[in-house]
Amino acid sequence: MERSGEIVGRFAPSPSGRMHLGNVYTAVMSWLSVRRRGGRWILRIEDLDPQRSKLEYARLIEDDLHWLGLDWDEGGLDDVGPYGPYTQSRRGEIYAEYLERLAREGYIYKCRCTRADVMATQAPHQSDGRVIYAGTCRPPVMPCRDVDLAAPGAVRLWVPDADICFDDLIAGPQRFNLARDCGDFIVRRADGAWSYQLAVVVDDALMGVTEVMRGNDLLLSAAQQIYLYRLFGFEPPRFAHLPLITNARGQRLSKRDASQSMEALRATHTPAEVLGMVAHMARLQPDAAPISPKELLLISN
Ligand code: GLU
Repeated sequence: MERSGEIVGRFAPSPSGRMHLGNVYTAVMSWLSVRRRGGRWILRIEDLDPQRSKLEYARLIEDDLHWLGLDWDEGGLDDVGPYGPYTQSRRGEIYAEYLERLAREGYIYKCRCTRADVMATQAPHQSDGRVIYAGTCRPPVMPCRDVDLAAPGAVRLWVPDADICFDDLIAGPQRFNLARDCGDFIVRRADGAWSYQLAVVVDDALMGVTEVMRGNDLLLSAAQQIYLYRLFGFEPPRFAHLPLITNARGQRLSKRDASQSMEALRATHTPAEVLGMVAHMARLQPDAAPISPKELLLISN
């Protein structure tokens, strides 16, 4: 949606646990990137997974951001701003409209495969945990005009054997082949839950987001998302994928790393100390000296 040339960034956490230093790093970098250019920052709650999302965690995310001094212009649980709701669990009707659009244009089909079926057809070299659908339920001809969205099963998006190229603001030039690197992917799960890929594209586009900054575990997702942007006729945002923060063993931080969780950090550090650590990780300062959000803005300019 047009916002007349404004820079709009967003932080889109999933409220499935307390934030850890890696999430804080993403939040700070995204906040800084838009704030230093006078842009707007949105907080969107990505609570699509009904089993894992908890309102309590969303409240704690807001509280942790306030504690750090990171302010948002739109969104959050209070739904501030004109592009709401800003909580994904309340945007189902919007996603349904876009799903119907894909159905009308013949890009989606129903899939009855279980996870075990999908795993059983995996090519042996697929060892990085990525699951690429072999196309078992894929209709022989596309476009597929008679999909029954109400029938049981997941809804998959047909992808062509085509490359998606984009220039990531941090990770540099990227090229992914949709068929080889991701395969036909799910846009609505068999239990009715919306997929991250569909929801994030619809939300970022309708909320006028111009810059998506997040961890580089989502680089391949950006290719899938750009494909959806094209199908919907939306202008994609600029993508900026940050290197992932690792723990002392070199493993990616997860919500299970208790010592890096905001609960532990808040018990032993001041907000300025946590921001100092982040600024050091981002190589914005030579050490982890405490720093305020305002000072961070000054040194990053
Ligand atoms: N909800 C995702 C997460 O918490 C972030 C997705 C995104 O920024 O596009 O990891």
